[in-house]
Amino acid sequence: MKIVLQNLTKKFPSRNKKSREEVIAVNDFTFEIPDGKLIGLLGPSGCGKSTALNLICGLLKPTSGRIFFGEDDVTDLPPEHRGVGLVFQNYALYPHLTVLKNITFPLENLRGADKLSKEEMKKRAYDAARLVQLEDLMDRKPSELSGGQQQRVAIARALVKMPRVLLLDEPLSNLDARLRLQTREEIRRIQHRTQVTTIFVTHDQEEAMSISDMIVVMKDGVVQQIGRPQEVYDEPVNLFVAKFLGTPPINIFRGKVADGRLYIGGEAVLPVQGVPDQEVTVGILPEGFILQENGPLTCDLDRVEVMGRDISVVSTHPCSENASIRSIINAENTVDPDAATVRFAVKPRKLFLFHPETGERIRFTAE
Ligand code: ADP
Ligand code: MG
Repeated sequence: MKIVLQNLTKKFPSRNKKSREEVIAVNDFTFEIPDGKLIGLLGPSGCGKSTALNLICGLLKPTSGRIFFGEDDVTDLPPEHRGVGLVFQNYALYPHLTVLKNITFPLENLRGADKLSKEEMKKRAYDAARLVQLEDLMDRKPSELSGGQQQRVAIARALVKMPRVLLLDEPLSNLDARLRLQTREEIRRIQHRTQVTTIFVTHDQEEAMSISDMIVVMKDGVVQQIGRPQEVYDEPVNLFVAKFLGTPPINIFRGKVADGRLYIGGEAVLPVQGVPDQEVTVGILPEGFILQENGPLTCDLDRVEVMGRDISVVSTHPCSENASIRSIINAENTVDPDAATVRFAVKPRKLFLFHPETGERIRFTAE
């Protein structure tokens, strides 16, 4: 089921009694979520992710704009008629009910033509439980399960009604690091098996990047960029997106363009064609540095961290906006950890220029 958002907007009255200014939590969303894909809705806390999800499931009414599931306009449908499965961060299982009862719970309320017999309900619950590998734990109570297993119960409960759309709001936030990794892989696997169109909300870029077919990066209620994770990482449209994605994060420098060259400090580090002379913000991805004895970018070496296949060179530079610069270099290279400086050339496709005030990307062609 594809989902189409048309000029979707949600405004909230101000919570601050003194100011009348509204909060535009979701500002003019217009995009399509393709059928059967897993979409990561990504952005910092407060950027409007939950609001967007609640509009799509029908728990909130939009201020303006429309929502379509396939060809159906669902904007005015109540949540129970939209065919959505929901999983929240606080998955609130019923503590006194077994796993089986928790999963069948949403089916008990079906009425009329949708009403199911006890056997049908049980079969549906077991089908859902198998998808999340819980079929051996059906008689347990939630208190007898690990956090990851509890979250899988919540997912099975969302899947049991065979939703057209699965919506997950920070579903892994309450799990410890290892379980988070494991459960996110499981969500990916379940989504592949069921092919249900899924929207996965998270503030964790790594989580979104690793499991999404497509990510939607948001800031202050406004969509910044939509694309495949690698695409967005390789071609960020602005400084916000570039800084938000990637571990370790992109390295930011103050620079300037003069006569078709990019200067960081006094050094011309790269030819940049087609950019008028101006101050710029420079972003260099950690993998964008090449160790070079007489390289144009000279940094003060702090330390060298060995990471197996790669080494991470940690250095500083007077024009750097980060406390330290991290460059990831193939471990076949060696860096003398006692050297005072380290010199780099940069890979043109791993270096981005941004307007210092607006943060918009400035395109250039490297020679
Ligand atoms: P996220 O899920 O990305 O953290 P939310 O969608 O929860 O963000 O919130 C987006 C913005 O809308 C925030 O500024 C938040 O304070 C505001 N907001 C959310 N819900 C309400 C509400 N019911 N009333 C007023 N403001 C709200
Ligand atoms: Mg939220």
